[in-house]
Amino acid sequence: MATTSSRASASRTIPANSVSRALALIGDRWSLLMLAAAFQGVRRFDDWRLGIGIATNVLTDRLNRLVDCGCLVRVPAAEGGRRQEYRLTPMGSAFYPTALMFWRFDRRWSRRRRLQPGALVHAGCSATMMPTLVCAHCRKPVDPHEVAYREGPGAGQDRMPPPKVSRRSTVQLDDGAQLEMLVGDSVDYFGDRWTQQVLAAFFLGAHRYEEIRAQTRISTNLLAERLKLLTEHGMLVRRQSRAQPPHMEYALTPKGKDAYPIILTLMKWGDQWLATPAGPPLVLRHLPCRRRLDPVVVCDCCGDELDPRHVSFRRTPAALTRAPSR
Ligand SMILES: [Zn+2]
Ligand SMILES: [Zn+2]
Repeated sequence: MATTSSRASASRTIPANSVSRALALIGDRWSLLMLAAAFQGVRRFDDWRLGIGIATNVLTDRLNRLVDCGCLVRVPAAEGGRRQEYRLTPMGSAFYPTALMFWRFDRRWSRRRRLQPGALVHAGCSATMMPTLVCAHCRKPVDPHEVAYREGPGAGQDRMPPPKVSRRSTVQLDDGAQLEMLVGDSVDYFGDRWTQQVLAAFFLGAHRYEEIRAQTRISTNLLAERLKLLTEHGMLVRRQSRAQPPHMEYALTPKGKDAYPIILTLMKWGDQWLATPAGPPLVLRHLPCRRRLDPVVVCDCCGDELDPRHVSFRRTPAALTRAPSR
């Protein structure tokens, strides 16, 4: 009897990791889009509604959730009266590097963004720039092959997050959205926390179905669906392993590997805001400089760390002529 119950409770836990914790809070497409819009100055209900083309009831629900989890705070509107607006808290503001890494990913891989390119301009150096993830110590761009992982002081098990969104939304990013978004159509697959968790498992070294399942504890049907989705989107390939005896495994494509900065910034955000008092569940080391990895997002022109107050959008076809750097 005791064995049955401990087995049952074990099945409701997952290996603690900050990416899963972050995704349990904000890992759905609308929360991601709303946070990104907040960095572009959106503060009012109607500005979100029209800006990102979100339905009123969904917007109300997500605003409540973002306030409850501490990313936004409700304040009286500047002009007084009974109107309210929403401001990013320090926790919400700290999501900015992740939003920039979404932008970068879309800029490199989204068809829609290639057709309608925009550019980010850094006021610090007046340059059209590509936000880039580097190690805070040696300033080298972070490559997944140059990072080692070990259990941190907060390692352990987390309760499995409740399956709030059990089915992947099939709503496409609304063409009626009026805002040129920081986070673009990569939300079609990133705006689902199971998909991101599966991706994160690959960066932690999983390749085989059983390994991914052990890392994520996602039910078999959800996992099969997400692996199929990531393969269809060109993030994963299915291949025969070189091991003996050979078996089928999945591997990240160049596009899939390019999601690494998103996962790393999410992990840092989770470590910063959602870790237990013991500390982060996982500690990363940057092999080139042998220091603990602290990933920061910088302007690739001047190397300064990026702050939303100093970054603006420019719609310009000229952005096409500038190759993204790594
Ligand atoms: Zn380094
Ligand atoms: Zn700059």
